[in-house]
Amino acid sequence: MAVYNFNAGPAALPLPVLKKAQEELVNFRGSGMSIMEMSHRSKAYDEVHNQAIQLLKEVMEIPDTHEVLFLQGGASLQFAMVPMNFLHSGQKAGYVLTGSWSEKAKKEADSIGQTEVAGSSKENLYRHIPSNDELQLSDEFAYLHVTSNNTIYGTQWHEFPHLSVPLIADMSSDILSRKIDVSQFSLVYAGAQKNLGPSGVTVVIAEKKLLENANKDIPKILSYQTHSSSNSLYNTPPTYSIYMLSLVLEWSKEHGGLDGLQKQNEKKADLIYQCLDEHSEFYLPHSRKDSRSLMNVTFNLQNEDLTKAFLKEASERGFTGLNGHRSIGGCRASIYNAVPMESCEALVGFMEEFRKKH
Ligand SMILES: *Cc1c(COP(=O)(O)O)cnc(C)c1O
Repeated sequence: MAVYNFNAGPAALPLPVLKKAQEELVNFRGSGMSIMEMSHRSKAYDEVHNQAIQLLKEVMEIPDTHEVLFLQGGASLQFAMVPMNFLHSGQKAGYVLTGSWSEKAKKEADSIGQTEVAGSSKENLYRHIPSNDELQLSDEFAYLHVTSNNTIYGTQWHEFPHLSVPLIADMSSDILSRKIDVSQFSLVYAGAQKNLGPSGVTVVIAEKKLLENANKDIPKILSYQTHSSSNSLYNTPPTYSIYMLSLVLEWSKEHGGLDGLQKQNEKKADLIYQCLDEHSEFYLPHSRKDSRSLMNVTFNLQNEDLTKAFLKEASERGFTGLNGHRSIGGCRASIYNAVPMESCEALVGFMEEFRKKH
């Protein structure tokens, strides 16, 4: 039976990437051993490491004002590192609340310094991204933090606020899925396990100027400066995850880079949203139309029994990962870069069939 992988994270990886990794697994490019078994100071690993950085710069068109870091601890460690480094005493950081991850990011910052809610769609069950008019911005903020794509609620920023203070974004679930202007952000971070590769590495894209103004009185290992000044080789990096990231980036390039991937992602998402909209008496999308995510399509059925039946039948038919996040339930199709069009077509076929039957 074919398996259609809609897992939310860790998530689908491109099949050609897995095959290449398999091919190189026990004998990395003629070295007679696996890349996993090599020193992170070896020449072979160094090439992989620097290639991953170069490829990310190329694919995302990262300007020279910014640099790429490979860290660990997931996006969750960034929730703490961002305020530790950039929330100076006497200042406030602004957080826009658009879902569970932004709430967590703010909570972590609250334990380090002062924060302020600069906008929230919580009252609307996080169905939308606040518009510019709904934001309460201040020139005094140390930075403004946003979550570009809300993995659990299925919403996505389509236009980011322009500000005089540093803009910092958690892009864990939509990095590499569409064109963005990196120069608009002072810092971007993303755990790899949605669009970039396997879990283990966290990508940070930081403006050099921002790093210069970071707090100095924090543990070395938690300072961006430490990792920046050692090319992310201060301690042993997650070498295998970075190797996988470099393969995913090569694959992304072959698929037309961000332009190509964005077009494909739009087609995939349109297909599923169209099905939801055409049968809005049966399928109930969670997010407001103007805030819909290209990565996570969230919806409910009219009642819990029907939702249960949908998920059960779907799983019997080879669809995995369609259950919503444990915190909100319902259904969610995560359609990251590596999820092929055919999986989306198969899902829509199943949704039509299920609707007719019930
Ligand atoms: C998955 C996810 C996280 C959590 O990432 P970890 O790597 O598990 O810490 C944070 N933010 C967003 C937007 C996510 O999608």
